[in-house]
Amino acid sequence: MSEKETSSVNPGLLSLDQHFRKAISVFALYPFVLLMLFTVVVVILSSVYRSHVLSQSMLQQLRTSIVDVASREASLINQQLTTVSDLVRIARPEHEYYLALPRTSQLPLQGAEPVFTIAENGAFYKSQDNGGSSVYFPPGREIEQEQLWKARNTERLDGLYKAIVNASDIIDQAYFNSWDNMTRVYPFIDKIHTVLSQSPVVTTSNFYYLADATHNPARDLVWTSAYHDPFGMGWMVSAIIPVYKSDFLTGVFGVDITLSTLTHTMLDRAYLTGRNVLLLDKNSQIIAVSDEIAPMLKMPASASDKGPEAEAVGSSSLLNQLMEWVNTEQSLLEITISGQDFLLSKTEIAETQWQLVVLQEISDVMSPIQRLERTEMAVSLAGLLLLLTLGSLYFRFVYQRAKIFARHFAAPIQQLTLWTSSLGEAVPANKSNIVKSKVAEIATLVENFRTMFTELHDRNEKLIAAHISNQLSEEKARLYQQMANTDQLTQLHNRKYLDTALRQYSDSVQPALCIMLIDIDHFKQVNDLYGHQVGDFVLKKVADCLKYKSRTKDIVGRWGGEEFLIICQDSSLTQAGILADSLRVEIEQLDLIANHKVTISVGIAQMRNEERAEQTIARADTMLYRSKHNGRNQVSLELAS
Ligand code: GH3
Ligand code: MG
Ligand code: MG
Repeated sequence: MSEKETSSVNPGLLSLDQHFRKAISVFALYPFVLLMLFTVVVVILSSVYRSHVLSQSMLQQLRTSIVDVASREASLINQQLTTVSDLVRIARPEHEYYLALPRTSQLPLQGAEPVFTIAENGAFYKSQDNGGSSVYFPPGREIEQEQLWKARNTERLDGLYKAIVNASDIIDQAYFNSWDNMTRVYPFIDKIHTVLSQSPVVTTSNFYYLADATHNPARDLVWTSAYHDPFGMGWMVSAIIPVYKSDFLTGVFGVDITLSTLTHTMLDRAYLTGRNVLLLDKNSQIIAVSDEIAPMLKMPASASDKGPEAEAVGSSSLLNQLMEWVNTEQSLLEITISGQDFLLSKTEIAETQWQLVVLQEISDVMSPIQRLERTEMAVSLAGLLLLLTLGSLYFRFVYQRAKIFARHFAAPIQQLTLWTSSLGEAVPANKSNIVKSKVAEIATLVENFRTMFTELHDRNEKLIAAHISNQLSEEKARLYQQMANTDQLTQLHNRKYLDTALRQYSDSVQPALCIMLIDIDHFKQVNDLYGHQVGDFVLKKVADCLKYKSRTKDIVGRWGGEEFLIICQDSSLTQAGILADSLRVEIEQLDLIANHKVTISVGIAQMRNEERAEQTIARADTMLYRSKHNGRNQVSLELAS
């Protein structure tokens, strides 16, 4: 039986098959899917948690290491700058000594005698490189004894300058600027008058006046802020120291450190590989920046060569953020530059109060972990997918097997359901048409049912046959009975029937029962005149008239020959008389034979108490005789005695 049939009988119920599928879903499929989902969630959550923990610990390590790196680098730079400061300080007494000498004494020189030339623009300069410094007086400076003496005799300082420049990796130039605008600079600059022609007077430059009495009353060493070198060495800072003769500032000695040299010196160090640096002076002005991050700060590439001017075009919000942080106590900052996360650490360089900022791109450190995480996640998901696929295949296999198993139950039961739904119908006689179950008990049950239904069907068939046969017999008997009690010619009750009926009325109290005897007048003549067939026709017509014109409850029968008898129940003699007369008139008017009237004579007697029917009939017959005798076509009643 199909599911549809089941549900059409019991709309609210599920079929065995549906129950089975529901059970499989509830007990196997849903738990399986839930387990899979749970596993996926656990794998993802644990992976996310682990990666979070790992990232945090890496970040922590990174913070520690960047602080270490920054302080180490700051200490190295500090060392270099301290060395520079020391060298500059050492140079001061030498200058004081030479500049205090009387202008008359010509000192012996170690190298060749310098050659001075006056350029076309009037500048006074040393025109030949004798292995020492360049010397330069700007145009318009009147060269007198003092200046000539100074130009020649300070050649004695060139050895010192050379030693100072060579002593430090970061010192690019050593120089002395005098109150009267002489510049002595080492190493030698060829055609210095062309380089310096556009330059301002040195005494008004920051690398001079920052050391004067106003700016530096302590007469100590001063670090300048970044400035553009008039000798064309690019952007630089200088460590300068005043040279006094008593209270007269005779000049300023200084060394130059170009910012690009400073940057590259730092970045050349192995532990800074992959990192970036920023150097800010004590006014929080960027004085050095790695090429890599210059564009991120929206500074032109090689900003270190461009110097602090670059700051003006920098990204104000980012720089503001940087500046804000630099002025706080916080040593670490996490910042996003051009969509990349950076970790920044700052350390002060004690010698100059500069801030060294080391930048580390976080993704550089995190990317291997992230790659590992992605790989791990992909492998986990692939594993889960494989598990899901295998699980699904296994589940499908189990489902199919279970379905087949369930069919061993369902199919025979469905067949039994079908059989019981059409009880009485034949079950298949051929055993091959019967669903077989591999379950022994069910197979036996089906077989027993089949036997039972076959038996039931056979019995049913027999019962129906017997019933039909009974019905036929009864009908036959009824017909026989009817034939036995019916007159063949007139189809009225026959004499036998009338006798039986009359017997029932005998010997009982019958207050209102009349017997009416009817005889056709001169019937012999009819036969004789018109033939026996016409006689039969007349008999039939008279019989019909008697039957249909009498009352329903009257029993009308043929008494014999051309005589009829009517048993009038519940009828007084008078009533019977009226009926008889009406019948007589009806027949008289029938007009059965042309020019021949058929009439009847009637005799009526009422049954008396405890009188036998024969006696009543006899009295009725007497009355009939009276009617005949009195002229026929009339009714005679037995008057009450
Ligand atoms: P009455 O008026 O005195 O009764 O005269 P009647 O001729 O009728 O009486 P009768 O007894 O002499 O005649 C009866 C006739 O009815 C005799 C018989 O031939 C006829 N008869 C009786 N049975 C049948 C029948 O079944 N068919 C035919 N055609 N005639 C019958
Ligand atoms: Mg007669
Ligand atoms: Mg007669």
